[in-house]
Amino acid sequence: MNHSSVENHPVILPPAMLGMLGGGQLGRFFVVAAHEMGYLVTVLDPDVNSPAGKIADLHICAAFDDKAALAKLANSCAAITTEFENVPADSLSFLAETTTVRPSAYSVAIAQHRVSEKNFLKQAGLPVAPYVVVNQVEDLPVDGSDIYPAILKVARFGYDGKGQARVKNQHEAQLAFMQFEREECVLEKMLKLDYEVSVVLARDSQGNVATFPTSENSHLNGILDVSIVPARGSDSISHQAQKLAIQVAEKLDYTGVIGVEFFVCNGELLVNEMAPRPHNSGHYTIDACVTNQFEQQVRVMTGLPLGSSRQHSPAVMVNILGDIWPLDVENQSQLEPAWQHAFANTQLKMHLYGKQQARSGRKMGHFTVINVSRDEAIKQAMQVRADLNIGN
Ligand code: ADP
Ligand code: MG
Repeated sequence: MNHSSVENHPVILPPAMLGMLGGGQLGRFFVVAAHEMGYLVTVLDPDVNSPAGKIADLHICAAFDDKAALAKLANSCAAITTEFENVPADSLSFLAETTTVRPSAYSVAIAQHRVSEKNFLKQAGLPVAPYVVVNQVEDLPVDGSDIYPAILKVARFGYDGKGQARVKNQHEAQLAFMQFEREECVLEKMLKLDYEVSVVLARDSQGNVATFPTSENSHLNGILDVSIVPARGSDSISHQAQKLAIQVAEKLDYTGVIGVEFFVCNGELLVNEMAPRPHNSGHYTIDACVTNQFEQQVRVMTGLPLGSSRQHSPAVMVNILGDIWPLDVENQSQLEPAWQHAFANTQLKMHLYGKQQARSGRKMGHFTVINVSRDEAIKQAMQVRADLNIGN
């Protein structure tokens, strides 16, 4: 068997088969990292063309709650992880009956539901934006309440700004709540943000933590646009964000890679949300750190020691969304963006996810510019971003 031990803890070594629930780009980067390290990977995802499924050793094309498919995954993999917080927590519990699952169903269940997430953060004594839980129309605060203007966010299945509505008053909140078919929601005060940061960290089953440097993030239409690392702004904010992210992971007794998003508001940090998986704002680690966030994910699930998370170069990551694919009106088909602008930059690392259909708001790829100078990396990344027509 491929089991060995480092300091008496069981370790899964290559060429063991690892399981990944979810076939998106995060799963794809996981497959790349696992392959580099000598492991095999089985991906479970319902999409025949999923980015990770296409490069995995085995793709089980089935729904995330398909018991037979889950049993097949559990039987063939030495350990299983996920890239997608909307995997049913029940499926993780089912897998955990027979194999190692990291992160736990418990922590994924908390992070995948905005109400349990907010309540957890609040009970853990972590600072969050003012919010109200909305189960019925009557729960929406009346006009004059301090919470307006606010953002109504559905509790489940939200990501990339989906399932969110900005509302100025009770009436608008009611309309939005109806539009969300009275699904359980969180109504959150709309804050004036100084800026946003995030921290990605890995925590192993013995409680060791490796924190990546704090990323400064800007969003467009609720979707991450640019990450600058190290974050500009005060070092004290970056440092506090790291401490808070570690608290989040410890209070969750988290095992795996987690991304914690923060608002900086009036010079204070508030925890926005957490993602129980590698995070888009941690993509810079692929090109700018000794160990990237996906290798850390492999290391945690296999029981290997965490790798060094040291950043060797300042980095700027820019997301590439489906919006920049030009439409060929005559042939009703999609043309390709002018990639030559990006590849002309010798400090740029391109990552396209192999998705067949470009759609507005869909994450199709990203690029990272690294440089000895952060300011120079920002300048160059912004130039390529403009050349590719991103954000117009
Ligand atoms: P998602 O799960 O889609 O990432 P978030 O709650 O993180 O949802 O919201 C996406 C983005 O929308 C945030 O990163 C931030 O830019 C903006 N946003 C969300 N909530 C607030 C708020 N209460 N005040 C100001 N901006 C917000
Ligand atoms: Mg978010």
